[in-house]
Amino acid sequence: MNTPWGYPDFDAHEVVHFVDEPEHGLRAIIIIHSTHLGPAAGGARFWHYEDAAQALTDALRLSRGMSYKNAMAGLPLGGGKSVILASPDRHKSPELLAAFGKAVDRLCGRYITAEDVGMSVTDMVEVSRQTKFVAGLPNDRGDVGGDPGPHTSLGVFLGLKAAVKRGLGKDSVDGLRIALQGAGSVASGVAMHAAAEGAKLSIADVDQAKAKKLADQTGGTVVGTDEVLFLDADVVSPCALGAILTEESIARLNTGIVAGGANNQLATAADGARLNDRGILYAPDYVINAGGIINVCTEYLGDGDAALVRERISGIPTRLEQIWAESAETGRDPAAVADAMAQRLIGRG
Ligand code: NAD
Repeated sequence: MNTPWGYPDFDAHEVVHFVDEPEHGLRAIIIIHSTHLGPAAGGARFWHYEDAAQALTDALRLSRGMSYKNAMAGLPLGGGKSVILASPDRHKSPELLAAFGKAVDRLCGRYITAEDVGMSVTDMVEVSRQTKFVAGLPNDRGDVGGDPGPHTSLGVFLGLKAAVKRGLGKDSVDGLRIALQGAGSVASGVAMHAAAEGAKLSIADVDQAKAKKLADQTGGTVVGTDEVLFLDADVVSPCALGAILTEESIARLNTGIVAGGANNQLATAADGARLNDRGILYAPDYVINAGGIINVCTEYLGDGDAALVRERISGIPTRLEQIWAESAETGRDPAAVADAMAQRLIGRG
């Protein structure tokens, strides 16, 4: 990888925009990785980082991930991301959101923002008072727009089913044991879809009350956060944190399939190969979790309705199957295959 600035995660990103406005309580980094396919789209993360270097690393990685995700979803969008450095008390004022909106606006549409971890639909409405380059807003066109979570969940569930078909030869998750890490927005939707089809769910969340509520709603069982990844399960579905697939955790997996919605599941690129070496079928995260950005894109471009969003999301299994087929043919792991496909699509192959 190209590291001319001494940052291992720098990958010829087109724009790194620092925003420092203490008078409005705002410190943010807006990064455009690639505009090869269109304006760079990717959410705004509101997070308390240990230091600015950590925030920069996060934004560099996440923005490149968005280039890959948007390209693999077949969207006419490049990739970007912003991180807002929250104070330890995570105070988020209307002034901060307005200043962030103005900072997005200054990029004149090269970057389109939306919600990510720590940002809500209501926050996006505040941001939209300052810029039109924002998506994830409530609107009246069916379910296009608004919270991307349910759309992400649908795509993850369809991708999980494709993995079950490929890995286990089954058309349904009926009776299958699915271990779900997380009980938040994405995990809840996945759990509902899977339970409706008869899956047996084991659910873990650091927030016990959330895990219990979801287990009650889906007939599932609450399990510990330290055991969920290692249960004897047909599918492990990470839907909470990144970097959970490490050398150590992969060695302890007791499943044939990892298919979940969390971003950046692999701690390092070598972990994709480790999964492959163990014969575990992996659904590359940015391919399986593209449902939300598909919805956001359709909303922003105004080029379709809820039916089109669904149709675009239903393309996720096909892309995964292409990746797995190439992986089987070449022996390269699915994550490496997906990266190479995405790089070709953004003109960097
Ligand atoms: P969320 O905040 O609604 O849910 C995350 C859940 O994970 C929370 O309930 C939290 O308590 C739980 N959690 C945190 N640490 C945990 C741990 N160690 N073990 C178990 N649970 C833990 O977030 P979300 O929107 O559901 O996103 C989940 C993941 O999916 C994130 O990685 C996010 O980046 C990714 N993602 C989300 C979307 C979307 O549309 N929301 C789209 C693409 C990717």
